[in-house]
This record gives sequence, structure tokens and C-alpha cells, in this order.
Amino acid sequence: MKRESLKTVKRIVVKVGTSTITYPNCTRNFTQIDRLARELSDLSNRGFEVILVTSGAIAVGVERLGLSEKPKTIPGKQAAAAVGQGILMNTYERAFADYGKIVGQVLLTKTEMLDRQRYTNSRNTLTELLRQGVIPIVNENDAVVLDELKIGDNDNMSSLVGGIVDADLIVILSDVAGLYTANPNTNPDAELIYEVPEITPETFKRAGGSDSSFGTGGMFTKIQAAQAATSSGINLVIASSEEKNAISRILDGEMLGTLFVSKENRLQFRKKWLAFAAHIEGSIVVDSGCLKALHKEGGCSILPAGIVDAKGAFEAGHTVSVLSETGEEVARGLSHYSFDEILKIKGCKTSEIENILGTKVYDEVIHRDDLVIL
Ligand code: GLU
Repeated sequence: MKRESLKTVKRIVVKVGTSTITYPNCTRNFTQIDRLARELSDLSNRGFEVILVTSGAIAVGVERLGLSEKPKTIPGKQAAAAVGQGILMNTYERAFADYGKIVGQVLLTKTEMLDRQRYTNSRNTLTELLRQGVIPIVNENDAVVLDELKIGDNDNMSSLVGGIVDADLIVILSDVAGLYTANPNTNPDAELIYEVPEITPETFKRAGGSDSSFGTGGMFTKIQAAQAATSSGINLVIASSEEKNAISRILDGEMLGTLFVSKENRLQFRKKWLAFAAHIEGSIVVDSGCLKALHKEGGCSILPAGIVDAKGAFEAGHTVSVLSETGEEVARGLSHYSFDEILKIKGCKTSEIENILGTKVYDEVIHRDDLVIL
């Protein structure tokens, strides 16, 4: 039943680890890279929106620098990542180009998650790339990020990216086939768990704790990622990168890997968050025409034309209250524009935004998906 619901997925984050795309001697596994490029390109042709989160920069750098092992120091790792990231992108660029696809590199750090403006900016970049049919390729910005601002592993990075782009599904391709009832390397009776309806302390125990040697990917960070994803409305599947066309098969509802089920969908989660949890930074006042449209079946987005005023010094990406002209709070939503931008474009047509502000990111001040009627 839950697997069936994956057939409605549109936006997918796919994560691959170093051990999937490189060999133990740090050379690139071109067979896997090509398979991945082929499958993701095919999914893009079918109309899915795909974002790839990939590790491998450090390993590829180690190989290029001719080092005998992975550096132990942070500057050593950062230098290897700086060398490897370019080679990694070049490899993907060529592999995807074979299938007619354009890729775009996006290097993120934890700062993007902590700083509203950077979060909004990375969200805008990623969604714009998707809008243009580009496949974004994300890694952590290893070469510059300080240790305490590091996410550290791309499993958790994939769930953060899923949140940034409002993905419907995250697929972590790994050298393990999913979560087992026991360690499959040591226990022949270990069975694959196809569905985890809820992540409990028991689930983490199954993953073997943080020092697990359950496959080189480390199951612990994958469960952490699954916990973050499912508690923010995103389903997550861990599957083996050895399976042919794993992602398409998962999207077709096949029982492949372990599905961590999210109780609500991303839109429901966002709306709940907007209604109850988001910090309100200001407000916009809308006219009676806009008010009526908001209450119509299916709702609507808020365009500059329906706005009469804005209050509070909020930035783009902040949550605001939507007020009627009599001051009653009717809705809450995420504003695409800052307080002073709205004061300049209020009452205008969307076609005038660019002339007035010199640039236009969105037609809507608040998109209907980012709006909850109270
Ligand atoms: N960002 C690191 C790299 O590209 C890998 C992080 C991870 O393995 O999760 O080498």
C-alpha cells in the first residue's frame, strides 16, 4: 500500500556514497557512474525532477594526488576534496552529457540550514535548476567548511536537501540492501525489513549504533537521515546500488530496499509547520478581492496586486501573517519578497515586478503551497 503511494512521486533526491562510485583503491567506478547517469537521465526524460547528492570528492582527490591512503588531518582531507571535487564533476558532466543532460554543481554547508537567507538562496538556485531541466549535483563544500559547520556525511545532507527542495522521496543507494533484522554480515538469519512505519530507539539499535561496521556506508547516519526526512514529510528508501534500475523500480512500487514511511506528505507538513511552528516575522495586508480568492476551493497564491500594505522588517523567505484590511489574521505564509520590496510592488501587476525591483524571482509574493489559511 505504502509502496503504491510512491507512484505519485515527482521530485526525488538520490544519494550515492563514495563506495558506490569509487573502488577501494580510490579510482572511479565508471560502470556505476554511467549506470547512475543513464538512470537519472531517463527519469528526467520521464518527467521526474531529480537531484543527485554525491560523495567521492576526497577519494577521487586521493587518487589524483597519488596518496597511498586517505589523509588523516582536516587540511589534508580538504585539499584532497578540492582536487577531487572538480574531477568528480567533470566525470558526471561527461556521463550525463552522453544522455543529453545538463548538470549543475551545488556545494552546500550547514550554514545554508542555519541562515534563512542562505537557505532561501540555495532553495531558489536548486528549484531554478530543476525548472530549467538541469540535474543539480550536490556535495558538501568540504574544501572550505570549518569542522563545527560541517554536516559531515551525505546521508544527512540528502535529507537536508530533500527539505530544501520539498522532495517527495529520498533514495539512498548504498552497498547494503537496506535495514536488516540483524547484522547480515554475521547473522545468516538476518532478514531485510521492507518497511519501517516508525523510527524508534529499536531501529537505531538495529543499525548497530554509531560505530557500526554494517556496510561501509554506516547504517546509523542513514537512519538519522530517515528520521529527519520522515518527520518532515518525506519518504526515504535505502536500497542497494547493485540493483539495476533501482530508482525506477522503487518508483514503480516494487518492494526493493527499506522504505521509511512518512506519516504525512511534505505539503501537509509544511502547512502544519507554517500554522503552528514558524516564527512570524511580519505581516502583509491584503484587499477584499484577494481575501475572497484565498477562501475559494483550492485556494490561491498572493500576488502583488492584492496587497495593500506590509509591516515588520522581514526578509525574503521569512514567515508572515496575512491580515485583512480590518487587521484580522486570515492566513500565514512564506514570503518570496522582503518587507521593503513588497512596499514597492504592492498593488502592481506581476509583469511590473522586474521593472520596479530590477529583478524578479517569483510572480507570487506567497505561493499557495507556502500558504495556510487559518
Ligand atoms: N563530502 C565527502 C566527499 O565528497 C563525503 C561525505 C560522505 O561520505 O558522506 O568525499
